Order: sequence, then structure tokens, then C-alpha cells
Amino acid sequence: MNSYAGPIARLINEFSKLPGIGKRTAERLAYYIIETDTEEAVKLSNAIIETKEKIKFCSKCFNLAEDELCEICQSTKRDRTTICVVESPKDIISIERTKEYIGMFHVLHGHISPMDGIGPDDIKLRELIQRVRDENVKEVIVATNPTVEGEATSMYISKLLKFSDAKVTRLAHGIPIGGNLEYTDEMTLTKAFEGRIEI
Ligand SMILES: [Zn+2]
Repeated sequence: MNSYAGPIARLINEFSKLPGIGKRTAERLAYYIIETDTEEAVKLSNAIIETKEKIKFCSKCFNLAEDELCEICQSTKRDRTTICVVESPKDIISIERTKEYIGMFHVLHGHISPMDGIGPDDIKLRELIQRVRDENVKEVIVATNPTVEGEATSMYISKLLKFSDAKVTRLAHGIPIGGNLEYTDEMTLTKAFEGRIEI
């Protein structure tokens, strides 16, 4: 037998499209589904469908949300004068875990990368400018990843915000160059927040 029956082949094919999943792992996952209870498999597929149907982007900060506004934007306990700019909603989870930050967020959904054809208009930059204009923002903390693209995006943001009185700061020490906020431990991220500098 050198090929799988239709449904299994399709399942393996779908799993192998997931990030970080190679052919071998896709096969292992498919066998897991074959051997697991139908009830468990249904739970998994329902969770996927429910996520796709119910999760959208917050209309203010573009974080993941179940309602028009995300939980953070709805909260009355946050400091509305500070906006922390991140590339992805996953970064918000990492920063929230540190419990150090009580301000608001803004998710760019990417970074500027001319090599990949991603310009300023392809990420949520215009919306950020609008928020700094409309809201009483005192500080914008740029927490894009410390990669070449993240740094370039950060510099671009600092130039764009020159018109406002808001202080623009950048996360500094602790995060390794070429690293990713998502994989940074809480202590390192806490230190990076403490060591942020004006840019
Ligand atoms: Zn929000």
C-alpha cells in the first residue's frame, strides 16, 4: 500500500498545510483522529468552525474579538493614554502574561517589508495615526519584533508620529535580535518593557 484511501489522504493533506506540520506529523495526526472517539473528533472540528465563525478583529485595535470591541478595549480599568503597537494578536497574549502593562494595544497585522511587497498601507498604520489623533494618547510604545522588518516598521512609525505630542518609545533590552515576541519569556519581556527608550 503506497497511497492512502481518499478521506485519510485529504485529512493528511489538510494537516500538512498547518504551520510547522510536515508530512510525517500530518500522518501521525491523521492516525490519531482515526483512533480517537468520534465525539472527540467532532469536538475538534466544531472548535475550528466556531473559531472561524465567531472570532473577528476589534474595530478599534484589531486584536481578536468576539464582539465589536475586544476585551481590552472594553475594559474600564486600562490606561487609555498609552498604546502599545504590536505586529500580531499573539504578541498581546505574551505582553498580557507579564501583568506589567495596563495600557491599550494596536495590532498592525504585519510589518513593512518592501522585499515581500508589504508597504505602509498594507498594515494598520493609518488606523494607528487616526487613534493618536483622536484619542488623548501620551505614549506610543512600539513593540514590533526586533527583526530587520520590525525595526524598519518602528522607525517608520516614529517618523509618522512626529506631528503629535505623544512620546514614542521602543522596547529595548532583553529581546534577542532576530527573536520573536511570541517566544519571549515573561522575565525577558518585563525587562524589555522597563528598558524602553524614546525613539
Ligand atoms: Zn481592541
